[in-house]
Amino acid sequence: PARFDMASLIKEMETLRLGTKSTRHSIIEKLQDRGFIEGNPVRPTPLGKGLIKAVLTVDSKISEPDMTAELEKEMDLISQGSTTKDSVVSESRDMLGRVMESLEKAESVLKEKIKLSLNEGTIIGVCPDHGTDIKVIKNREYIKIKCLTEGCRIEFTSKIMGLIKETDKKCEICGLPLINIIRRGQSPELRCIDKDCSYNKEKNTMGKCPKEEGNMVIRQSRYGKRFLGCSNYPKCTNTYALPQKGTVKFTGEYCTICNSPLIMGFIATRRWKFCPDIKCEYNRRKDKAGKKQTSAIA
Ligand SMILES: [Zn+2]
Ligand SMILES: [Zn+2]
Ligand SMILES: [Zn+2]
Ligand SMILES: [Zn+2]
Repeated sequence: PARFDMASLIKEMETLRLGTKSTRHSIIEKLQDRGFIEGNPVRPTPLGKGLIKAVLTVDSKISEPDMTAELEKEMDLISQGSTTKDSVVSESRDMLGRVMESLEKAESVLKEKIKLSLNEGTIIGVCPDHGTDIKVIKNREYIKIKCLTEGCRIEFTSKIMGLIKETDKKCEICGLPLINIIRRGQSPELRCIDKDCSYNKEKNTMGKCPKEEGNMVIRQSRYGKRFLGCSNYPKCTNTYALPQKGTVKFTGEYCTICNSPLIMGFIATRRWKFCPDIKCEYNRRKDKAGKKQTSAIA
């Protein structure tokens, strides 16, 4: 069915006699503040969906429009002077008492149900540390890969849709599933879902850091720009700017002037070798010779 926008939602609440003219807006606001609904047209968040599912399975009157409607009707009657405030207050207290009682009984069930619905997703493996499932959870906001045990090293979240793609490949080193990381202007990169796995370190290296024993790796700045950073960051803060277009690969060679790893850039059929230190004389030379590394990393 079509989702409600703010105006039609308030109309529907009117029809169901939910809230009063003065409270309907703040009810919606409250639901937004607590993260149960979002957007306009309004849609439930994963948390909201969990709550709805949980409430529907709990035996109480809270999910029925009737109960609030009944209360609100009486409030209207008070303002018209046809019933006393006291009688309504004691009636509501009784009603709320009954609801609270059944809610308290159901609370643990409720919590469990919400947790379960938040953990919905596809199982892609079993955690070697905990034996619990590793799941891919996708929703409108993110893709998340995580071990269901809290605090596990296996956790990977991407806010940008399409950045992570599942694969049916397994890591040769640890046996966990591999995922494809897709970045603009670069060929997809296979990564082990255990971020500490040495599979990722070898795959990503763009040569050795000339400042100490770290490896240079492609990183993404907060603004989405790629650059070379040292794997020993923050101990080593050595960085190089990279061209933002095309593919970049480590050549296996090092700059004869500054010892930085030499990089090959590719855009369509064009390719060019450069020293990532843009101020380096290497980039102004014509012969552009590089020092061959004995154990070249492909
Ligand atoms: Zn785990
Ligand atoms: Zn691995
Ligand atoms: Zn370094
Ligand atoms: Zn250089």
